[in-house]
Parts: sequence; structure tokens; C-alpha cells
Amino acid sequence: MALSIFVLFSTFSMCFLASSRDLLFVNAHSQNLTQSPITPINYDLYHSSGNLMEEIGALVHRHPDKLSVETIQARNKGYGADVTVVTYCKGKNENDEGSRFRILLSFGQHGRELITSELALRILYILSGEKIIPSMDQASLNSILDKLVIKVVPMENLNGRKLVEAGDLCERRNGRGVDLNRNWSVDWGKKEKDYDPYEENPGIAPFSEPESQIMRKLAMSFEPHVWINVHSGMEALFMPYDHKNTTPDGLPLQRMKSLLKEVNHVHCHERCMIGSGGGSVGYFAHGTATDFMYDIVGVPMAFTFEIYGDGTASSRDCFKMFNPTDLASYNRVLGDWSAAFFTIFELVPHKLAEIHSKLSVLKLDKLVSIDEYLDGYLMERRNRYGKKMEVLELGMQEIRTYFRLFLLSSVLLLFMFCSRISKSKCSRPIVSVMPL
Ligand SMILES: [Zn+2]
Repeated sequence: MALSIFVLFSTFSMCFLASSRDLLFVNAHSQNLTQSPITPINYDLYHSSGNLMEEIGALVHRHPDKLSVETIQARNKGYGADVTVVTYCKGKNENDEGSRFRILLSFGQHGRELITSELALRILYILSGEKIIPSMDQASLNSILDKLVIKVVPMENLNGRKLVEAGDLCERRNGRGVDLNRNWSVDWGKKEKDYDPYEENPGIAPFSEPESQIMRKLAMSFEPHVWINVHSGMEALFMPYDHKNTTPDGLPLQRMKSLLKEVNHVHCHERCMIGSGGGSVGYFAHGTATDFMYDIVGVPMAFTFEIYGDGTASSRDCFKMFNPTDLASYNRVLGDWSAAFFTIFELVPHKLAEIHSKLSVLKLDKLVSIDEYLDGYLMERRNRYGKKMEVLELGMQEIRTYFRLFLLSSVLLLFMFCSRISKSKCSRPIVSVMPL
């Protein structure tokens, strides 16, 4: 029971959380209401979400020795989401997977940032061997990739992306209006003075959104060494923290900073802003994925990249503001940034060599909250029994609430039981009084 009370308390006191910088140029519906032209999505350059996912499916199908794909589903209060995850693991030898470095990359967390999912597709093509990086020969690329397992989420926010394709070009939130990069638990829900729900609505609770639940589960089970959350709106390479004006210190800082400096020098031509998210862009972001990955999942190198932004675009012209609109810029962005990712793949084993052996020890220190435990349990049930499990229809949020109520009532019952015993003890006649 003492454990239950502790778990109950730790759940209630669960910390809040914070990432994306792409608000820098935009406050989409609060400024610039003059009627400047709006650039439509250029489908000569960009895939529709449907075409992009189809192309990825076909690519995986052609390379079963390297690539595999799964779609994870979750629902909450009548709202459902699908997140597709592509895994690169050459040879797919499960036994030596633990000895490789694990990298988790997410793209398209915000609907309007189409270029990020195009980059995901380009990276997958290079991983498959169907496209190349001009600056890297195939033999060195192969030896780099032998050491890695890479999971790519090409379009985290498929529902939001569909809204953008339907004409709401400035939409960044998910299919029911929640910003998926404010829905995580580190410093969740804190609102700055210029808070704009159209942009940053954090949801009704941490992990209220199926997309965030899926991503958290994926990260907790995969335990990546590197996390990169890819956005657009500006050019920047951010490390934690987003919710405050500080970075981690010591070795973790040196490790992340040296990697970012190298990427900035080689691929961003020194244009990219580097630093903590919160310290670099002039505002704090609360409840972001990267802060959670660093603080809670314990990912040693956690980043948010911003790969493109057009500061000259009007704030209503979101396709232009967040995405290159001509062929030359489109190709340049995809060329530069895909090369940057493969440089990172090359550098990661060197940066992390000294802590690789310590990681298993660190894992023992990780505390698991009720939410995380239950989510893991439910996911395991789902994997075992498929979608038919009725318990899942109740939704994870409900299950968590019932479990908390159950613990709370157990505590109350125990309290009542103890007080009754102690009363009856007090009223019992004293029979052992003996005069000497
Ligand atoms: Zn974004």
C-alpha cells in the first residue's frame, strides 16, 4: 500500500513540460490582414500525404532486407490517429540490435511544414540505396549504417496535414486543434503572455492526444540514443531546453554542441542558429517532445531542427513561409539536409562511444509513472490481441482515471479501517490494571 500511495502521489505530481521554433515568423491570424496573394501547395514538387505514404510503402516493399514499416493506431474520446513508423535495420538481425546505436527521427509534427516529410522520404530513399549522397561513397555509407538502427516517422501529424491539404494552409495542430509539440509532460500547460491557442493549444492534459501517446510509447520502447524532431519556419539546430533559458551542462552539453557546430559548419553554412530552444528564439515553449525525450526518456542527444523558413513571406502565406516553393530551393533544402543527417549518422558512434557501455546502468535509474506503466501495458495487450480488445475502446485516458480512482479509494478504505481499529483499541476496557 505504501507503494500505491507513492505511485499515486508521483502521478499527481508529475512534472509538466516544452519545442518548436517555427512561430518565430508567424502569428498567423493576428497580423498582416492586408490581402496579399496566398501561395497554394505546389503539387509538382510536393507529394500529397496519400502519395507520400504510398511511395514509402512501395519503397519498403522493394527492400525487405533493410526496411520494414508498421502503423500504430490510438484513439481518445472519439478521435483516432495513425502513425506510420519505418525502421531501417540492415540484416534485421534482432540479436545484435542492442549493440547498435538507435536513432529516432520525426517529421511532419506540424501540418503546414510539408518540406519535412519530403526530407523523410529522401532520407529513406538514401537508406534503401536507391538514391545517393554525392559527397559520400557507398562503401563508407554502408559501414556507417552497419552500426545503426534508425526509426523514421515520416508524418507524425497525418490528420493535421490533411487539413492543410484541404485548404487550411496555416494549420500546424492535429486533427482536433491541439499542438502536438505542446502536449508532452515536461512543463506542460504553462502559457506565455503572447499565448495563441490557434498556434499552441497544449490539449486538456499531457498526452491527451493519440499522436503524442504513440510517439511516447515508441520512444520508451525503442530507447533511442538520438532524437531529432524536424520542423520548418526558420533555420536552426536546437538542443534542450525549450521551456527555459538554459541548456544541460557538462559532457552532455559538449557532446550535443560539438555535433551541432559541425553540422552548422558543413551543411548549414553557418546560417543556422544553435543553442537551447528556449534561449535562442526569444520565447519559451512548454510541453515539447524534445524536452521530454531528454529529461524523461533519457535520450543522450535530443534535438529540434528547423530546416527552412522564408522570413519575407506574409504571415497568411503559410505554404511559402514554411516550405520552399521553387524547384531549385526545394532541391537545395533536401540535398543539404539529407547530407546533414548522414553526417550525423557518421558522427553519432564517435560522440557516444564513451557512454554506450554506461547506458544499461542508467536505465535502471529510470522511474516509470503510472501513466507510462499503463500505456506500456495497454500497448502490449494491443500487440498481443489486436484491435479487438474491448478494453482499448475505453481509451487510455479513461483507464488511467479509473486506476487512479481505484488507488484513491483503496487509500481511503485503509485509512477508515485503521481509524476504526484504533478507536476500538481506545474504548476497550483496561483489564490489566493491578494494584501493587
Ligand atoms: Zn513546427
